[in-house]
Amino acid sequence: MTSISKLPVDIVNPYESMLERFNIAADILGLDPEKRKRLSRPAKQIILNFSIIMDSGEERNFEGYRVIHSTVLGPSKGGIRFDKDVNLDEVKALAAWMTWKSAVVGLPFGGAKGGIICSPKTMSKTELEKLTRAYTKALIDTFGPNKDVPAPDMGTGADEMGWLMDEYSQVHGKKIYAVVTGKHLDSGGSLGRTEATGRGVSIVILLALKKLSMRPEGTTVAIQGFGNVGMHSALFLFEKGLKIIAVSDIYETLYNSNGFNIHHLIAYSKKNNNSLKGYPDATPIENSQLITLEVDVLIPAAKEDVITAGNVNDVKAKLIVEGANGPTSADADEVIQQKGILVVPDILANAGGVTVSYFEWLQNQLDETWDVEKVNRMLEEILDKSFAEVFDASEKYKVPMRIAAYVIAVHRVDLAQQNK
Ligand code: NAD
Repeated sequence: MTSISKLPVDIVNPYESMLERFNIAADILGLDPEKRKRLSRPAKQIILNFSIIMDSGEERNFEGYRVIHSTVLGPSKGGIRFDKDVNLDEVKALAAWMTWKSAVVGLPFGGAKGGIICSPKTMSKTELEKLTRAYTKALIDTFGPNKDVPAPDMGTGADEMGWLMDEYSQVHGKKIYAVVTGKHLDSGGSLGRTEATGRGVSIVILLALKKLSMRPEGTTVAIQGFGNVGMHSALFLFEKGLKIIAVSDIYETLYNSNGFNIHHLIAYSKKNNNSLKGYPDATPIENSQLITLEVDVLIPAAKEDVITAGNVNDVKAKLIVEGANGPTSADADEVIQQKGILVVPDILANAGGVTVSYFEWLQNQLDETWDVEKVNRMLEEILDKSFAEVFDASEKYKVPMRIAAYVIAVHRVDLAQQNK
């Protein structure tokens, strides 16, 4: 039985990991020290302190964050995370990755991220609504369709985005749908948004397999995290004939050498309060084992710093596709390169989410509703083109795809800054 206390505990700072990769790209681009500071440091960091009344009648205080990393390419864009481990360095890293992510896929957005230290699974819907509304009120002058546009992240979803939109709209006296993305369809959401990140992960996996001359059919996969990103990645890959032999969530890690039926697994998890615990037809293994399993493709789709110097020597996958943001700490990069593992980095691999968020924002601004075929076709076009650009840049500069993606992104933001 896996217990949370047995999860990897390597202490690494995701903001430092971001800076290390940024500086390698900045060396390639020949950026001077002042420019590096201007491009890498967050434009604004907000720390909030607010309280809500819990269902018990007690008042409880919360700490929240919103970090605007950059608005050079457009309004800042980035999710809101509800998690007990949220901290300012994590939010700063996530905000910067949003800047590079939007830039690498060519969207007219800057980067931001937000979070609240809380345990959403232990809170009622009423409490979560109060929390979201209090956070929105505290940031009412920061958010705006052409200023800063939030979205869901770990621990938040369409409900929270709907409450945020409603609170913002009430203050402004009219419905302002474009202030947030990832909403329910009847609150101005876009078809295809919920599954967009996982769809994007599956699109880049198929592109990467082609580069490795591997066929999708029978290719084995391990996926860490079975939330929005992990579950949808699993679904699309299963439908393409890949064999998902290990999956995990915070409660359980499951192994089945014959491959899971992902439709059954999703139905089970949904019925079981979003938990894989107790799924029949599988062998429970230790959470930490998933990263080092004998598989072709590893998809970390839960949280940061799960592939570190502490376990990278034991990683056996040929391809790592980063569904999560920052799952590989910088101290693992060298070994990954020595082992010849192809890594499709987070800022490209999980960019499907922000891309369809952009489509949602556009539909709201234009008062249009696009059909899902159009959304999916445009998503695939953008990811195909971006993957090719990053892969070509990695060959041109003789660097891993991660550094190539940073070079492209940092160069685009730098050029736009110069032209401002
Ligand atoms: P989610 O809250 O829907 O799901 C997270 C999943 O990870 C859950 O199944 C949870 O149980 C599991 N988990 C947490 N800690 C774990 C651990 N130590 N081991 C195994 N499983 C663990 O979150 P999500 O939206 O799927 O986000 C996951 C990651 O993807 C985050 O890094 C997020 O920033 C990133 N991301 C999300 C989106 C999006 O559109 N939702 C877009 C881009 C990137």
